[in-house]
Amino acid sequence: MGERTRSDIRGVLFDLDGTLYLGDEAIAGAPDAVEAARSRGIACRFVTNTSTKSAQTILEKMHALGFAAEAPEIFTPSTACVSFLREAGAPKVMLLLEPDAAEEFAEFERDEVAPDYVVVGDIGERWDYHVLNGAFRAVQNGAHLLAYHKSRYYRGAGGIRLDAGPFVAALEYAAGVEATVLGKPTQTFFSLALRSLDLPAAAVAMVGDDVENDVGGAQAAGMIGVLVKTGKHREEALQRSGVAPEFVLDSVAGLQALLTGASV
Ligand SMILES: [Mg+2]
Repeated sequence: MGERTRSDIRGVLFDLDGTLYLGDEAIAGAPDAVEAARSRGIACRFVTNTSTKSAQTILEKMHALGFAAEAPEIFTPSTACVSFLREAGAPKVMLLLEPDAAEEFAEFERDEVAPDYVVVGDIGERWDYHVLNGAFRAVQNGAHLLAYHKSRYYRGAGGIRLDAGPFVAALEYAAGVEATVLGKPTQTFFSLALRSLDLPAAAVAMVGDDVENDVGGAQAAGMIGVLVKTGKHREEALQRSGVAPEFVLDSVAGLQALLTGASV
């Protein structure tokens, strides 16, 4: 499979959580896999839906885990959102974000009553009636709703937990609007990373553990989808998804063999 495409790969987008690291530990061989790609002249970018941390904080974590990376190589939903808001002029914003993520929005004026945009990332246990109602009123007054993602739930310490998606859906339902979603798997997000690579989509591989958000999203953007079996990967999820990755690797450590054309 994919014999034609592997030698055409000139850029790689790496997912972070579940692909390059798990929690606070690098996946075995992952820093070497990134280095091997770079040493072959392949441009690398790091694309994550992490919405509670700034790119700077993510960069510091990557360095601590042994990954060579620079700030402009990292793309988060905040990166996409800031770029979107810049193109909208100088809008006033209401931010439902953790303080670390909100730091990236310093250039925009905050307005808690009549913003132009309500930006919904993750605020975890800070969601309550008051917060939700404040955002609802702003949207009802004409503010546009921007959401980092619409994930339903995630697995955290102590079991499954509500993610931001249900709260975004509550706002959409109450105000009768549809949020503009900015993270993976949206084309807005992938095109931003692609633009920074200055490569055609067909020359770029996306490596990730989420068959729909990483692999399916990247394929829809015209990229090569590479699924890794680490992180959140489950065989049932792959079967159910209807997504057919160009390549499936046990872990990102297998990327080097793929790029050199060895059988994988
Ligand atoms: Mg992941």
